[in-house]
Amino acid sequence: MQYTFEPYRNFAEQLDQEDMLKQFRKNFHIPENTLYMDGNSLGLFSKAAEESVLRVLKEWKDYAIGGWMGGDKPWFFQPEKIGYKCASIVGAEPEEVIMTGSTTLNIHSLISTFYQPRGNRTKIIADELNFPSDIYALKGQIQSKGLDPEKELILMKSPDGRCLDENAIASAMTDETALVFLPSVLFRSGQLLDMPFLIREAHKKGICIGFDCCHSAGVVPHRFSEWDLDFAVWCSYKYMNGGPGSPGFLYVNKKHFNKTPVLAGWYGCKKDRQFDMSIEFDHSKCAGGWQISTQGMLSAAPVESSLDLILEAGIAPIREKSKKMTSYLAYLVDVYLSESPYHFKIGTPLDPEKRSGHIALEHETEAVRIGKALLANHVVPDFRPPNIIRIAPVPLYNTYLEVFEVVQILKRIMDTKEYENYSKKRGTVS
Ligand SMILES: *Cc1c(COP(=O)(O)O)cnc(C)c1O
Repeated sequence: MQYTFEPYRNFAEQLDQEDMLKQFRKNFHIPENTLYMDGNSLGLFSKAAEESVLRVLKEWKDYAIGGWMGGDKPWFFQPEKIGYKCASIVGAEPEEVIMTGSTTLNIHSLISTFYQPRGNRTKIIADELNFPSDIYALKGQIQSKGLDPEKELILMKSPDGRCLDENAIASAMTDETALVFLPSVLFRSGQLLDMPFLIREAHKKGICIGFDCCHSAGVVPHRFSEWDLDFAVWCSYKYMNGGPGSPGFLYVNKKHFNKTPVLAGWYGCKKDRQFDMSIEFDHSKCAGGWQISTQGMLSAAPVESSLDLILEAGIAPIREKSKKMTSYLAYLVDVYLSESPYHFKIGTPLDPEKRSGHIALEHETEAVRIGKALLANHVVPDFRPPNIIRIAPVPLYNTYLEVFEVVQILKRIMDTKEYENYSKKRGTVS
């Protein structure tokens, strides 16, 4: 889809007027006097999420331990119930998705199940641009099988330091490959990999494939069942607005329900048998079998109502608006910030179908200081080394006018050289 944009403020206002999702913004607590462009790191707090937290606090107060089985939403079943809701967002069957653990923990758990090196098939294909935690987990899992990560972990190289070439990944899949584990979206550049293609290629060669969908879940529609994806993990605190450190999700294709949850825990037992307290693990034979521990209900509460908002808006309209917003941002950067003396580059694929919800703005020498100047101007992006400012306009709560303003503020920071007031040292959390 080609968009036609104009570089003026009133055009942004017109886009906002025509926006079918504009009524969702009022559901969110927007930090005062702030242009929040960081929903790809931590989504905003919705009023519905706030109500859910208050509900759970009240349940704890009123029912104490009775809350596990009592009240309107018994806690014991919430990981499944919330998993069902999330399943429809990622195109999976209800029992294939569970809310549990956290992304890195779920990677450990699913890799320990799906990585079963045998004979020549010992290698895991991943990529050098992946989120470091995913790589640490893969290396640890290889070691736990008594093998050497330096030999068994193949990290696909990026031709340009930004993106990966799916054909090269497919060519690297051989009869020595035991498993492929990739991100749906590269967290720096925002490139969205062609998941169905990679799944088909892996399956042609008899290889299991999993994805980390942290940077696509809640903003890009997926069809895990239709694609026959083997397994996936994702977090709920980015585009799913579940709150700081909120629980993760995992998906296991139903054809793998018989596989063993190696990092087993009592919550993976059949629900009606869990309290038998048998020392024989009775695998519940659904995604829930990969639960390990008791789920924190206070951190789970906001996730449910945040997913309700996504379901109400619809993941397809969310994606449409997201593509349009990132295209608009890329357009404004091109108009206002690409030439001398600004020299910003866009490190994200320009085809909206090939990216997720953020734009990576690259500035060769001053990205850290520009990021700090943006924060001082109440714009919240984030910084990723070495030279990337990520800007994520989120369909459920950001406006086109905000995108326009962010670009104008950036331009002013460059025109006045305001960034020179800041040190080049990156913050601890950025
Ligand atoms: C956000 C993110 C994580 C975060 O992992 P946690 O275990 O939730 O801290 C991991 N991997 C990727 C690709 C991410 O985008």
